Amino acid sequence: MKLIPALIAVTLAGFGNAALAQEKVLNLYSARHYQTDEALYANFTKATGIKINRIEGKEDELLERIKNEGSNSPADVFLTVDAARLAKAHELGLFAPLASAVLEKRVPAHLRTEDWAAFSTRARVIVFNKNKVKAEDVQNYADLADPKLKGKFCSRSGSHPYNLSLMASVISHQGEARAEQWARGLVANFARSPKGGDTDQIKAVAAGECGVAISNSYYVARLMRSTKPEDIKVVEQIGIVWPDQAGTGTHINVSGGGVMKNAPNKAAAIKFLEYLASDDAQRYFADGNNEWPVVANVKVDNPALTKLGKFKADTLPVNNLAMYQAKAQIIFDRAGFK
Ligand code: FE
Repeated sequence: MKLIPALIAVTLAGFGNAALAQEKVLNLYSARHYQTDEALYANFTKATGIKINRIEGKEDELLERIKNEGSNSPADVFLTVDAARLAKAHELGLFAPLASAVLEKRVPAHLRTEDWAAFSTRARVIVFNKNKVKAEDVQNYADLADPKLKGKFCSRSGSHPYNLSLMASVISHQGEARAEQWARGLVANFARSPKGGDTDQIKAVAAGECGVAISNSYYVARLMRSTKPEDIKVVEQIGIVWPDQAGTGTHINVSGGGVMKNAPNKAAAIKFLEYLASDDAQRYFADGNNEWPVVANVKVDNPALTKLGKFKADTLPVNNLAMYQAKAQIIFDRAGFK
């Protein structure tokens, strides 16, 4: 009999420690692999005492992993880039509903959904060779399909989420028929078959192999901030256009995340996402990775972003980008945009 109270005491103490330990660790599954994110996480730990156990992987692999782990998944938060991938996590039922007054207040409504929120944005801009193409000929995404640009347009694959999300926005605004017409026009204007990433397109534009291309803004900003002589040369050759300023605005995509349905530590997960919407964290996205904050009036200190200046961004809800992903792929496939 004497042993039992002691046992209970030990067991309770054990539980207490486990609960405490759990509270102090956040399992973050992240498909963002930007070096500057390190400081972001270190600051969170400093402010909250919650350690971040980061599991990094490629976007699709991480999703697959969380799915396979099922109800045993230790994942608290999933962070990734592109609305399409966040939408996939939603479709797989991996996210818990996102209930946070802080996020509702700080993240604009079109940049969040019921179960995930964006924490930074990137624009899909037009990059052109100043000697080969006139700026006035490439003011809108639609211009890229104009026969005037025959043999001049370059792009990464039509299967890449960045292009699929752009296509999804075109479908949202203009309908499927016009979107397909556009895709066929782009294909007819190819200078070469799609290959490489956005930076490869920018370099090919600078070299004159392509007259015009589309790229995420942070790749442009990264080159603008580079001190390598070859990058400086690239930037000298190119012009940048914010597409569709007289219309619906430049297409933007996001990086974002949500709390997992089976998160062992939901409280810390919410705390972390709220932290990502803090002024400090928002500044890290902007200054470190050349993205734009989602929170209004955050002061950033990034010479490239300052130089790129202000623009009118499309305010299409991120949910729409998700909604038309599959359609976007079908249309690119039909148009022969490989
Ligand atoms: Fe990227």
